Amino acid sequence: MTAMTYRTVAGLLVTVVALYFVGKRLLMLYRLGKSAQPVEPGRVAGLGPHVQAEFVEVAAQRKLLKWTVPGIAHFLTFWGFILLGLTIIEGVGALFNRDFSIPFVGRQPWLGFFEDTIGLLVLASVIIFSAIRIQHSPKKEGKKSRFWGSHLDGAWLILFMIFNVVWTLFLYRGVQYANGHFPFDSGAYLSESIGKALNGLSHTTLDVLENVTVVLAWSVILIFLVIVVNSKHLHIGAAIANVAFSRRPRALGALKPVYSGGKLVDFEDPGEDDLMGRGKIEDFTWKGFLDFASCTECGRCQSQCPAWNTDKPLSPKLLIMSLRDHALAKAPYILAPDDEHREHLREAERSEGERPLVGTKDENGVIDPDVLWSCTTCGACVEQCPVDIEHIDHIVDMRRHQMLIESAFPEEAGVMLRNLEHAGDPWGRGASKRMEWAEPLDFEVKVFGDDGEEKIPDDVEYLFWVGCAGSLDEGAQSTTRAVATLLHQAGVNFMVLGGAETCTGDSARRIGNEFLFQMLAQQNVETLNEAGAKRIVVTCAHCFNALANEYPQLGGTYEVVHHTQLLADLVAAKRLTPVEPVHARITYHDACYLGRHNRIFVPPREVLGAIPGATVTEMERRLTRSFCCGAGGARMWMDENLGTRVSHNRAAEALSTKPDVVTAACPFCIVMLTDGVAAHLGPDPAKPVEVVDIAELLLRSVRTPATAGAPAADSRGGTIP
Ligand code: SF4
Ligand code: SF4
Repeated sequence: MTAMTYRTVAGLLVTVVALYFVGKRLLMLYRLGKSAQPVEPGRVAGLGPHVQAEFVEVAAQRKLLKWTVPGIAHFLTFWGFILLGLTIIEGVGALFNRDFSIPFVGRQPWLGFFEDTIGLLVLASVIIFSAIRIQHSPKKEGKKSRFWGSHLDGAWLILFMIFNVVWTLFLYRGVQYANGHFPFDSGAYLSESIGKALNGLSHTTLDVLENVTVVLAWSVILIFLVIVVNSKHLHIGAAIANVAFSRRPRALGALKPVYSGGKLVDFEDPGEDDLMGRGKIEDFTWKGFLDFASCTECGRCQSQCPAWNTDKPLSPKLLIMSLRDHALAKAPYILAPDDEHREHLREAERSEGERPLVGTKDENGVIDPDVLWSCTTCGACVEQCPVDIEHIDHIVDMRRHQMLIESAFPEEAGVMLRNLEHAGDPWGRGASKRMEWAEPLDFEVKVFGDDGEEKIPDDVEYLFWVGCAGSLDEGAQSTTRAVATLLHQAGVNFMVLGGAETCTGDSARRIGNEFLFQMLAQQNVETLNEAGAKRIVVTCAHCFNALANEYPQLGGTYEVVHHTQLLADLVAAKRLTPVEPVHARITYHDACYLGRHNRIFVPPREVLGAIPGATVTEMERRLTRSFCCGAGGARMWMDENLGTRVSHNRAAEALSTKPDVVTAACPFCIVMLTDGVAAHLGPDPAKPVEVVDIAELLLRSVRTPATAGAPAADSRGGTIP
């Protein structure tokens, strides 16, 4: 055999061995994915959004580049590896033909230059990644490190392998150059330099070296491939598919209804075998499995999670990792050909098949109930995740099973659920109290049906959806009055539903009680459709989300605007004129369900910006990175006994801007921030800080010809210092 044949045989041999292991693993993963539940209809329909997502999220690395330094390093590695594919083609070609070059362009100096430069950039990215990992190591930063809980050894192994890929690449290219079998006469500056350093070696030595290094470089790539498919770096391939099949534009806003076997569950007549959420790992869809396989363990989600940042046991990263590890550990059990094999695995103490999906440590549960119920569904994890994992959907699906099948949920939330069922609001006050908020007003608020009308009259511009908090919570009533007064002053003809309104069901849905959500939502959709509602204005971010994004799932499609949007429009149209100065430092909190979930960032700031005298300061965590107030995901109705309070954390940040007023545009945020600010300032602060909705601030500043001389502020707000 010639040296060339040895090289070819050795190359083929390592290829066959590596592909055997890679293929075996991929086949197992494919079978595992295939055993999962089908996705909901529409998920894979239409090519356009999937292709667009590939360009934006994968090719342009949009989300990763938001984190500048690690983003650039990842961009370089990702594109570097793709472009280094050219050198891999050359390397594989060299296994068969030592003078191989890529057809047409393979001998152009610019290609050699390009390949060497890309190799160097990949090397630079390895150094940057290493520096980031050292700087933010869990040993140094503890639980604050986004890498806390990640497989650190695995990550270092991958960096080491990338380093090996690059140095073996340059070595074989250098040897090729020295031995006269390099495709490029010039351009490949680094390979040439290495080759020149080897010039003193004999031809025989170089022949041997060339054979060894060509096979070595290819073997390193194959070993890398085997490691990738057996580690969290599976994300390299999985993430590309995951991005393509993720909910567009993002898995925020509406929750998905309950699907079983890819079909919508009819809650009026559910099938006997219908899955109500996820009770075991096999209940997840293949997209769920793809999510688990795609997690890079980067910890971006964890670093933004309000639960994790207040010492709760929930980390979205660890949750996804636990589900992935459990799915892989249970795979032999899931893929066992029959019950006999399954029994055998059980007897052999492969107890993974026995673990409850949700259970305490003592029960050997995969996800602890404290983890599951700590989520505020704020969406920070989904927003940050560079591979578009849908954390909230998985969390709510597991909650659904706990709620609907196991009846296992935080006890204290039971009061809220019973009240919703019997009185249509979380406090159990009932429909008769829903118009009390309007009593102090000096103008009449039209209530649908009071004059016997069966349809909302055409001249009514907006149906004002007041919401449970806006109707019944003393603080939020003040905002409702402010909005009603502003609409009245602007000459907007509006109407309310009064006692015909019932809770939108947001909390019921997010706690997992889909049955109750459907009941409430259907009742509201019926009322709204019968009344012929078209345009709705709403003050609560949660009501907004339900009405705008979730009611269409039940046949209720309306044009829904948040009060900050409408107020901003009215100011812009000069139907409201803020003239009275409000001399105050004001900081604005982005409600999760207004900002992140619904992208309403600008109108609240426009309203504040229009108030003369006001100095608006921004918090560090704002816009898409805003920090939750702690009320979402039905957390408003649960005790917060673990760690510190989310609302206190947010209030501390708000107070760090030295404000006179902390403002928001959601009644739940106002409640939580009021509590947080009070906790920080104590009962008798030297400098009080007011927490109030934007609408009330605007009202203090607005004078219209009709109302000049009338009291500008609502009774609750008091005066701004
Ligand atoms: S939705 Fe918010 S609270 Fe829930 S896991 Fe994600 S970041 Fe944490
Ligand atoms: S879930 Fe997404 S953001 Fe969180 S660690 Fe995994 S890849 Fe990173």
